[in-house]
Amino acid sequence: MASVNKLNPGLWHISLPFQGEQEVIGAYVLSGKDEVALIDPGPETTLESLLALLQETEIVPEKVTHILLTHIHLDHAGGVGTLLHTMPNARVLVHSKGAPHLKDPAKLLTSAKRVYKDRMQELWGKVEAVPEENIQVIEGGDVLNIAGRRLEVHYSPGHASHHVVFYDVHTGELFAGDAAGVHLPGVDYVRPPTPPPDVDIEAWSATVDLLKRLHPDVLYLAHFGPIRNTIPYLERFRAQLFAWGDIVLGGLQEGKSEAEIVELLIARTQPELQRKGANAEIMKRYDLATNYEMTVQGYIRYWKKQHPERLSSK
Ligand SMILES: [Zn+2]
Repeated sequence: MASVNKLNPGLWHISLPFQGEQEVIGAYVLSGKDEVALIDPGPETTLESLLALLQETEIVPEKVTHILLTHIHLDHAGGVGTLLHTMPNARVLVHSKGAPHLKDPAKLLTSAKRVYKDRMQELWGKVEAVPEENIQVIEGGDVLNIAGRRLEVHYSPGHASHHVVFYDVHTGELFAGDAAGVHLPGVDYVRPPTPPPDVDIEAWSATVDLLKRLHPDVLYLAHFGPIRNTIPYLERFRAQLFAWGDIVLGGLQEGKSEAEIVELLIARTQPELQRKGANAEIMKRYDLATNYEMTVQGYIRYWKKQHPERLSSK
C-alpha cells in the first residue's frame, strides 16, 4: 500500500510505520481554507515518518494550524510535544480530561509503564509536555470550524475517559479514534482495544449507541482506516467488546491469574481471527495495535472496580 492515501479532496490518511509494520497506526490530515489539521499524529517514534510523508501531501509543517486529538494515549498523541518544535503555531485540541496530562505527562507515563514496562522507549520514544499556550480544551457539544469543515465534537468515553470523536455532518465522515475498535486491513475482524486504566464497558456501549445515532457514512479508525458499512460494523464491535469482557470475567470467577486469563482469551478468540484468514503478519499487527496482555489488564481492572459483586458469582 501507499503510505499516504488521498481519501477526498483535502483529506489524507497517513500510515505511520510502527515497529516495522504498516497499517497499524494512522494519522489523518485535513486541509482547506488556509488551515491544516492533523488528527492523532502518533507517538514520537513515528514523527520522522510523519514529517516525511506530509511532504507527499505538499503540506509544510509550519502550515499546520491544528492538531486534533481523539484522546491522549501514547500511540495517538505521545509525540505532540515534540512535534510542536516543527509546528510551533499549531493549536492542540484535546478534551478537558486529557488536557492536564498533555501539560504534565508524568501520570500518563506511570500508567503506561505498568503496561509496556521496559519497552516504553522502543515503542513511544520521548514524551514531551505540551506548552499550556498551545492547548485548546474542547468538550462534547463543541463545533469546530477547521480546514473548511464543520466538525462536531462528541464526547465518547469507554475506551478512555478523555475520548472524543469528530463528526463532519456535511460529508458524513466520522473520525473515531479508538471508540469503534481496531479493524486492520487484510482481514475482516474487529478487536476491542481495552487498555487500563479507565475502560468502561457500559459507557462504551452508550458511545456505540451515540455513534449509531449519528449514522455516519464512514468511520475513520485510528487502527486502521475507513469502515463504510458503519451500523452493522458498530454492532459487531459491541458484541466483541461484551464477549471478550465475559471471557475475562469467567477467568476471574474461576480464580485464574492474569497470565492464565491471557492464555484463555487467546485460546478462545484467536481461532476466529485465523478462520478469517489472518496470517502471522496480520496477527502481529493486531498485537501491535492492541495486545492481549493490555486487553486483559484493562478488563480485569474494569471488573474489579465497577463490578466487584460479579467476581465471585457464577
Ligand atoms: Zn487508545
